[in-house]
Amino acid sequence: MSYSNKVKDLYVNQLKDIKSAGIYKEERFIHSSQAADIEVEFPRGSDLKNVINMCANNYLGLSSHPEVLKAAHEGLDTRGYGMSSVRFICGTQDIHRELENKVTEFLGTEDTILFPSCMDANAGVFEALLTSEDIMISDRLVHASIIDGMRLCSAEHDTFKHSNMEHLEQKLQLHADKRIKMVITDGVFSMDGDLAKLDEMVKLCQKYDALLFVDDSHSSGFIGKTGRGTHEHCGVMGKIDIITTTFGKALGGASGGCVSGRKEIVEMCRQKARPYLFSNTISPVVVAGVLKVFEILSQSTERRDKLENNTNFWRKGLSDAGFVLKEGNSPIVPVMLFNAKLSQDFSKDLFNLGIYAIGFFFPVVPNGQARIRTQISAGHEMHHLEKALDAFIKVGKKYGILGLTKQEIIDKYGL
Ligand SMILES: *Cc1c(COP(=O)(O)O)cnc(C)c1O
Repeated sequence: MSYSNKVKDLYVNQLKDIKSAGIYKEERFIHSSQAADIEVEFPRGSDLKNVINMCANNYLGLSSHPEVLKAAHEGLDTRGYGMSSVRFICGTQDIHRELENKVTEFLGTEDTILFPSCMDANAGVFEALLTSEDIMISDRLVHASIIDGMRLCSAEHDTFKHSNMEHLEQKLQLHADKRIKMVITDGVFSMDGDLAKLDEMVKLCQKYDALLFVDDSHSSGFIGKTGRGTHEHCGVMGKIDIITTTFGKALGGASGGCVSGRKEIVEMCRQKARPYLFSNTISPVVVAGVLKVFEILSQSTERRDKLENNTNFWRKGLSDAGFVLKEGNSPIVPVMLFNAKLSQDFSKDLFNLGIYAIGFFFPVVPNGQARIRTQISAGHEMHHLEKALDAFIKVGKKYGILGLTKQEIIDKYGL
């Protein structure tokens, strides 16, 4: 044990650098449950403030839904708090298998394997399936957890320009001699809210004999007519070889993830995926809650329809007011500000007006593309959205950016 001053100073200086670069992340403490209305302590030690949450992944408003809570309580009472084991030793209950079957049915795949999180699913899946004889070809904007998963795998790696199908085709031709070719993409991209062109990708994968991998964490439960995901929206259900997704967003928001897809692929993960073999099983409480979420979703599309209506209202409201938005048709609606400091000032002013929405800037998004990423929920009522829109317009006026083009905002504030 020796935490020398030399080591300590190293960290002190690095932390100082992070702060002076203006990219130090400060946490805001929420004192209530996750919902449209939350009570927030920020800055630390200040009085609690009631604000409207515009940046949660709680797309379907199920994170604190009474029926989900009740089911979780029942899970707690009948199956206990935790399993104190990984799945293959003594961590599998009937309800874990029941949930896997439920996910399979919902996504329209052949089989499903649960993971402690989708980050873990992505960390384990590539290494379990591919070796140095194979190639992973990923979209340049895939989620960080996919990037980490690919790092853990000995297969060769290449990328294609974001959603650029010509570039993907070139890469598939370039790597035609590889044993297994796997094309890797997010379904909905988390920072921009745009959808992958899965219909075209399926065709290319068929033409070049490649597997298709889709991380649908920002779509499962609400994208597509019945909320099955991006593959439903694109009309390619049953044609995606591997889908990973999370239960930590729309599907209850607690935790957990999965790999769903071809039967043999799932079986390989059960034998070989390290986060499955060496990390604890999902708590029965969470499994019971997610099972209830799927029951609610199978009864009606009311929540995903409400989410769609809310999103349309929000997008149109911001656009009519003269904000520059990223185009897309998901409930992720980025309000583009380009300048990093402006995004932070804008977010602070919104907070003072009772609206909680975080500003993102480099390195979370590319340099010069700072933004407020708003996320709409079925938990929002019209009065939430109207109040939030008023606040955005007020702050937009303060900074004189309403009606300005991208270039005009950049000219005014710099990059
Ligand atoms: C949120 C997210 C994850 C991580 O999910 P967890 O279950 O919280 O680990 C993985 N992939 C994508 C695309 C995500 O948006």
